[in-house]
Amino acid sequence: MRLSFHGADRGVTGSCHLLEAGGVRVLVDCGLYQGEHELHEENDQPFGFEPAEIDYVLLTHAHLDHCGRLPLLVRRGFRGRILTTAASRELARIVLLDAAHLNEEEAEHQARRGRRRGRRGEPPLYTTLDALNTLDFFHDSAVYGQAIPLDKHVTATFLDAGHILGSAWIRLDVEEKGRRRRLLFSGDLGNRGRPLLHDPAPPPEADYVLMETTYGDHCHKSVPDSVAELFAAINDTFARGGNVLIPTFALERAQELLFYLREGVRTQRLPAAMQVFLDSPMAISATGIFGRYPDCYNRGVAELFRRGEDPFDLPGLRFTRTPEASMAINRVRGGAVIMAGSGMCTGGRIRHHLKHNLWRADCSVVFVGFAAPGTLARRIIDGAHTVNLFGEPVRVNARIHTINGFSAHADREELLAWHAGTGRPRRTFLVHGDPERGMGAMATALEELGFKVECPRQGEEVELE
Ligand code: ZN
Repeated sequence: MRLSFHGADRGVTGSCHLLEAGGVRVLVDCGLYQGEHELHEENDQPFGFEPAEIDYVLLTHAHLDHCGRLPLLVRRGFRGRILTTAASRELARIVLLDAAHLNEEEAEHQARRGRRRGRRGEPPLYTTLDALNTLDFFHDSAVYGQAIPLDKHVTATFLDAGHILGSAWIRLDVEEKGRRRRLLFSGDLGNRGRPLLHDPAPPPEADYVLMETTYGDHCHKSVPDSVAELFAAINDTFARGGNVLIPTFALERAQELLFYLREGVRTQRLPAAMQVFLDSPMAISATGIFGRYPDCYNRGVAELFRRGEDPFDLPGLRFTRTPEASMAINRVRGGAVIMAGSGMCTGGRIRHHLKHNLWRADCSVVFVGFAAPGTLARRIIDGAHTVNLFGEPVRVNARIHTINGFSAHADREELLAWHAGTGRPRRTFLVHGDPERGMGAMATALEELGFKVECPRQGEEVELE
């Protein structure tokens, strides 16, 4: 059996791993490389395997860096089956359609620029039609804990990863040459004790483990401390007369924040008159999907749904779908929480809100998620005095808060605990992390515990006994 690495190798985006075992070729995830600009060239490279020869794609969850190259895979000849949970399938639909739309917009924008210089633009990485075609390959939703036979010798089981709605880590049981081997693919593991989802399911003992390392060097603050910090930032900003901007990932984080803000108003720790804008069509659609999967939630939230209450609704909440409604927010000078994508400020409506609020000392920007190196979010967090927005320099006078206790990712201790649950694997492969940060730190920690650890490079292949 052979494992090869085709994305998120010594990096945090583009997850894609190939297992050839029994009689099948199984891809786990097929994600997009992401950065300051969606990295067209990097994503457009050959995969390093033949898409037509892949039998299955097992999708751990619907984040773009795990599913975003699926339309390319289909366009280049994949005709197998994509397996994932029902919730992931619904979320992947909006994520892929949104990505395709952004690709088309970007290509159109480049073409217009090119024409002015007498050059032809490049076609989009993939189109809405490619994304729609991809949806036809999603088959048979996976149910947590139920083994799915991929062929006579290989079964796959999806288990709750507690990362975002529908997320899974995947167990593959392989029988080859009379030997049984178990492999675990962590996908992205969740942070324990979050308000909506279950904690990640504990892993069984395994022979080979492939694990994410996003926060392998970092321990998160507790959730109650983080909530208190968020409420303090909001109340302080309102007292100064400004707005609070929260660059938000559309899946999970936006819904979690709505849940916290609702709790804040309910317990009178936040003003009831506060205006809250969810300025992201994708986050609005995702919030609708969240309401359809009450089983995925922990007991408290499931109970709210059962009582007919909406855990994501609060008095001053407004959903702004159209560009006009979004632009109207620019007139609000204070007393508002504005949540908009993208989470790393690489695109989306948040950039407009930053342009209108970042230079104002009475405003605040609260970062609640991972910010990859090279992104606008990272530059602001690292203390840039001026940033460029729409071709103009904008001073950073607003107060900047970074609250990482809301992270959807397991921290260092949780990763170590999850790995400890796998017993004594023969080999552990670390992916989805920065070698200078999370990945490097996790490799050192696991090696000190006596594990055989590898940080593969893109294109590397390993034979597994
Ligand atoms: Zn993720």
